[in-house]
Amino acid sequence: MPLPRLRAAVDGLTSYQPTDGVYGPECLRPLSANESAHGPLAPIVAAMAEASLDINRYPDPGCAKLTQALARRHGVGQDQVLVGGGSVALLQALFQAVAEPGAEVVYAWRSFELYPVLADLAGICSVRAPLTGEAHDLDAMSDRITDATRLVLICNPNNPTGTVVAGQALRAFLDRVTPTCLVAFDEAYFEYVSEPSACSGLQLCDAYPNLVVLRTFSKAYGLAGLRVGYLVGAGDLVTQLRKACLAYAVNSVAQHAALAALGVEDELLRQVAATVAERDRVRNTLLAKGWDVPNGQGNFLWLRLSEDAGAFGRWCAGAGIAVRVFGGEGVRVSIGAAPDNDTFLTAANEWRAQAVGVPVSGVTGRCGA
Ligand SMILES: *Cc1c(COP(=O)(O)O)cnc(C)c1O
Repeated sequence: MPLPRLRAAVDGLTSYQPTDGVYGPECLRPLSANESAHGPLAPIVAAMAEASLDINRYPDPGCAKLTQALARRHGVGQDQVLVGGGSVALLQALFQAVAEPGAEVVYAWRSFELYPVLADLAGICSVRAPLTGEAHDLDAMSDRITDATRLVLICNPNNPTGTVVAGQALRAFLDRVTPTCLVAFDEAYFEYVSEPSACSGLQLCDAYPNLVVLRTFSKAYGLAGLRVGYLVGAGDLVTQLRKACLAYAVNSVAQHAALAALGVEDELLRQVAATVAERDRVRNTLLAKGWDVPNGQGNFLWLRLSEDAGAFGRWCAGAGIAVRVFGGEGVRVSIGAAPDNDTFLTAANEWRAQAVGVPVSGVTGRCGA
């Protein structure tokens, strides 16, 4: 029987492949999806429990309370904040909003693996600018902007390499982009940035009305399972983009939990600071063992293993740790709780020992041990 006819673009898509061993019966420690290692704080659990009592009702489609709290938090107007069912839903809305025939999107590569999928789904042509030294090459990106470019994405810090763009470079780049071209900074990991030269797009939205900044509750705020993110931009632009989002897309439990998370933000940001300290410890340990590790500013680190990426991923799985493999390119490892990071470091040390012939120290932690 022939299948119903779908768009040809669907044939070309590959469905998202979660890392092996994380969702199945195996017991790998998940350092593969950049999640927070911390479970929800008590006030967040309480807010979820309370919200669940009204689950027969639709959620507030405008996310009024959360929007108000986010506007206050960032010192912007409520008309400048748009909440979505995860920041990837907002990214999809951006793609949908600009997807005219012939439209192009410019982004760096390697970057967030969802960008090409969203482009293909929306029927937008992807134009990729290669990274330089694992970081965005903004000259290469502006060289690729044409009259057909409707959207430019900058993932800052970049997933999966972790590098950040300096604030001055961002401003110089925005000065070169025509104001009719939408620019989105994907700042899913910005809370983890400690590099002083970095600058959030939230500081630039007033000066550049074609800029939107995407943030999420999935990483630093530890609510990945609830799917809530938001964007900030100029009021007129956000009003237009709001129309490109489905009503009721952010469920009521998520809205209340995110609001509660903002209420305990100090505690959450202390957890973030601890993760940043762990990140620096893991990176310094790897550097000391001879690994080449970019200055990762998210809650993850990047190892460009090239053709060894797959084998290293299996090696880590053998040690009980799931990492994210980008076949033929590299491996991204999330920063988790210290014992999991230590298990990873031991595995990485042993890998290098067998590959390079340096002596091994320490014992590999095994699954369940
Ligand atoms: C994790 C991540 C997101 C967050 O997506 P949500 O839908 O908010 O969970 C967005 N962008 C990048 C680059 C990410 O890595």
